[in-house]
This record gives sequence, structure tokens and C-alpha cells, in this order.
Amino acid sequence: MREQLRINCIIATPGNILTDVIYTQKLNTWISVCEVSANDSDIGKSELVKHTENIMSFVQDHKGVSVLVFTDRSVYGGPVGSGACAAVLFPLVDTEKWQISTSPVGKRVSSVRCEIEGIILGIEVAISYLCQCAIRKPTECVYVFCDCLEAIETLVNKCVLNKYRNVNKRLMCIEKKLQDISVVVKLVQINGHTGVIGNDIANREAREVAQNVLRGKVSTSEVILINDGYRIAREILEKSWQRKWNVELTGRYTYDLLPAVGKNVIFPNSRSVGVSYCRMLLHDTFLNADSFRTGLSDTSLCSCGEEIESVEHVLLRCHENEKTRTVMISGQSKGELGGTEFPHLLF
Ligand SMILES: [Zn+2]
Repeated sequence: MREQLRINCIIATPGNILTDVIYTQKLNTWISVCEVSANDSDIGKSELVKHTENIMSFVQDHKGVSVLVFTDRSVYGGPVGSGACAAVLFPLVDTEKWQISTSPVGKRVSSVRCEIEGIILGIEVAISYLCQCAIRKPTECVYVFCDCLEAIETLVNKCVLNKYRNVNKRLMCIEKKLQDISVVVKLVQINGHTGVIGNDIANREAREVAQNVLRGKVSTSEVILINDGYRIAREILEKSWQRKWNVELTGRYTYDLLPAVGKNVIFPNSRSVGVSYCRMLLHDTFLNADSFRTGLSDTSLCSCGEEIESVEHVLLRCHENEKTRTVMISGQSKGELGGTEFPHLLF
């Protein structure tokens, strides 16, 4: 039941505010907003540095008050490969040591799956830690830090959880336990690999286990999820498409402009400019350079008489297009997508 849900989410924005506004619609019972005010010294620093400093100071403020858990994952051998996750728990008492837990996830798993497993591992570790605590508050708050927004959203929104085998069931079980022991979990998104110590340790530990999974030193599931199967199929198809495009004998002019397959070309809003653009990419315009080559024109020279009428000449050098060129360059600097009509290029 939604009312019983005890997993909240705080998004640590790259700026200086930690807030959970994104999830307020979903979690009207357990909302908590946490703000970290900016330091004066933040001025002039990059967003990333500010974010890291805010997380560090957030950790410093909550250390010893709440249980803090950092989770991360590692996947070797492609986007669907040998994966593992790890959780590092900072206990309530400063004199206690960090608790590091790791878990192999599978031989053919995606990074998001491993991140989700990492968060679940982190919450489970926190539950067992709090259960054996001799003294604790009536309601405890556990902060779980993760650098994958997709994993956080998947767990909080639950809409695509059926993609991940058994996760929903485990999550329901965890929520029941949290309710029984009166513990609230808050997921905090952080930027990974930015020097936040707990995140760095979790990453290192997960990497070690993932390497062992790859080398066969750790036995783990070989089950592949259907979505990960699609992902592998897509990767194979793209590689094969790219290989064919690399060795193809025709279309080499276009290849020089668009060497990577699977990338979308951004077309201008104007249809006629779009058609010209397409013709330029295909090396088949109505300019004299192309028309002469295909036998449709007696000359390859531009009407200005200075050069062969190539795309480069028309767009960049021909004095007859000086005015249009100025419009094009000014449109580009403004980031306009409308496009500029060059009379010579119109079909
Ligand atoms: Zn010219």
C-alpha cells in the first residue's frame, strides 16, 4: 500500500540544494525535504565541485545521527556483463568501523540492475545493523547514497520494476521490515567518482567482485533478463551495421561526414533547406560540381567564375552568397534550427 511506503527519495542536485520535490506526488505520506544551504566559498566553483562539497558536508552533518550507506556497482564485459554491487555502511557510533558488504549479481547483467541490487543490499545491511543496535531512536532514518538516478527512480516509482526479476518481491519484504522496526529510508542521488569516500570504497569493492565474476572465481546466476537480451541484440546489430558501413564501397562522401551509424541527423525546420541539407550529405546537389560529374551540366564552374561550384564554395566562399552567408552564420550563433536558404542550393 502506498501509505505504508517508507522509501523516500532526496535528489541532491548539482547545485546547492538537496530536495525531494520530484517525488512529492508519489509519496504524500513520507515526504521529507532537506536543504543544504550554500557556503559563501561556493562562489566561482564548478557545479560538480559544489555538489561534492555539499554531499560531504551533508555526510558530516548526518554522521553519527543517522545510518549512512553508500552503494555502487561494477559491470565488466560490455553493457550487459559480469556484474556486482557493494554497500558501505557508516555506523551510528564513530568508534565502530565501516561495514562493507558485496554481492555478485550475475554473469549477464546491466549496470542499472546492479545499481538496484546495490541499493537493496544497502537497505538490507542497514536493517540488520539497526536490528542489533542496543540503543536507538524510536524512528531511525537511513540515508542510502547512489549515483544512478534510473535505479532510484525505478525503486521509488516501481512502474518498471517488473523488468527486474524478483526485485519487487524483495522490495515488499524490505518495506514490511522497515515498517516493523520503524525505519525510514531516504535515497540520495550523488555524482559518482567525485571523491566522496563512501562511494569510492563501494565502487572499488564492487569492481573487485565483478572481476572475480568475470574470471569465474565467484559463482553467480547466468540468467539473462529479456530487456538485457534486447540490449545485447541491439549492440550486436549496431556493431555489424558499423562494420558494413566502414567497408562499404559506395557512399564514402557521406561516410566522411557521418562515420558513426545509429546517430540521428538534426534537420532544420524549413523543408526546402532540409532537402538541400540531405542532398549535401548524400553528395548529390544541383550545384555545377555535381551536375557536371553526372553529365547534367557543361561546366563545373560557379557563375561567379572564380571556382568550381562545390558545396564548400557556395556556403563558405562565393561572393554572390555573401548576404545569405551572414544570415546563416548569425542564425548559427543564435542556435536557430530554421536553416538558411541558399538560392544556388535549392532544388
Ligand atoms: Zn561562386
